[in-house]
Amino acid sequence: MLTALMRGVDQPVSIEEVEPLPAGPTDLVVEIEASGVCHSDISAMRGYLGLANPTIIGHEVSGTVLEVGTEVRGFTPGDRVIGSLVPQCGSCSWCLNGQTHLCATTMSVRERVRARTSDGLPVTAMLGLGAFAERMTIDQQLAVKVNSDLPSDQLALIGCGIATGAGAAMFTAGVRPGSSVAVVGCGGVGQAAVQGARIAGAAQIIAVDPISLKREHALRNGATHVVDPAAGGTPEQVRALTHGRGVDVAIEVVGIQATVLDAYHSARRGGTVATVGIPAPDTTISLPATDFFRAEKRVVGSYYGSTQVRTDFQKFADLIEAGRFDAESMITHHYRLPDVQQAFDDLEAGGVVRGVIRHD
Ligand SMILES: [Zn+2]
Ligand SMILES: [Zn+2]
Repeated sequence: MLTALMRGVDQPVSIEEVEPLPAGPTDLVVEIEASGVCHSDISAMRGYLGLANPTIIGHEVSGTVLEVGTEVRGFTPGDRVIGSLVPQCGSCSWCLNGQTHLCATTMSVRERVRARTSDGLPVTAMLGLGAFAERMTIDQQLAVKVNSDLPSDQLALIGCGIATGAGAAMFTAGVRPGSSVAVVGCGGVGQAAVQGARIAGAAQIIAVDPISLKREHALRNGATHVVDPAAGGTPEQVRALTHGRGVDVAIEVVGIQATVLDAYHSARRGGTVATVGIPAPDTTISLPATDFFRAEKRVVGSYYGSTQVRTDFQKFADLIEAGRFDAESMITHHYRLPDVQQAFDDLEAGGVVRGVIRHD
């Protein structure tokens, strides 16, 4: 089976054949149809996610079930599925309390060995998925069935970029009708946050990004204003657009101190700041303590957009099918599996909103 492997931190992607291991009783074997290329894949290659190498990278994925294990319930061959970045065990206290995105069983299903390299090394799969491959063997807790006729590349985006971005606006930050929202960082996840804010009824959506292509995309996706951080401080520009007040909700989608502060200072007193971007490991975020106290801002981490995958993935698919969420325009590049490194290079160069590897 052809895969894109991470062999070690900061090494280039290795395209190679591996020998898949037999599926277990709770596993599904899925024919991969499309896998999105996400900045988290690059974060993984840099060692930010602490993956056990070699590992099949890629995590934003849709496909069709080929085989089901003897203990699998609720899936049959032919089902269309989207990979979930987190499992849903259904029985831990988080799952039982409506926070399946924080399920406690993550490690047991993510760390399984799924294949062997030609030189005999055990191969794991990124987040238990491993989307840059022809097939994947995944625990049933990582699969979400959807009823949809959407193209597979649009379905794949639901699994990470759309859930993380739109979910941050709709679920974590709880954008309300008529509110004002700033999105700091407008790659694929940021574009999804802009659309999530639009669907939630925001009156004003300010898209902040230094790259003009991404600002233009954001305007097409429902942003009402754009801010180029190079043209002056982001908070100053956001306040100028909000009668000096700041936005009700600021969503940070970069993951570094400077942009978290930009988002923080762009939010109004009493506003909400949601951080979505993945920070480098062992870094900390500092906030001005007096202002944090006096301005009573709510600063909240947003993990996977607080998405409840079993119900929300179908809702996202329905929103796309109804023309209410534009997934098609988010996809600016298509690639084949051997071109994963090129896809990463293009993403880093900044000219890509979302690239998708197609396997058909
Ligand atoms: Zn991702
Ligand atoms: Zn759980």
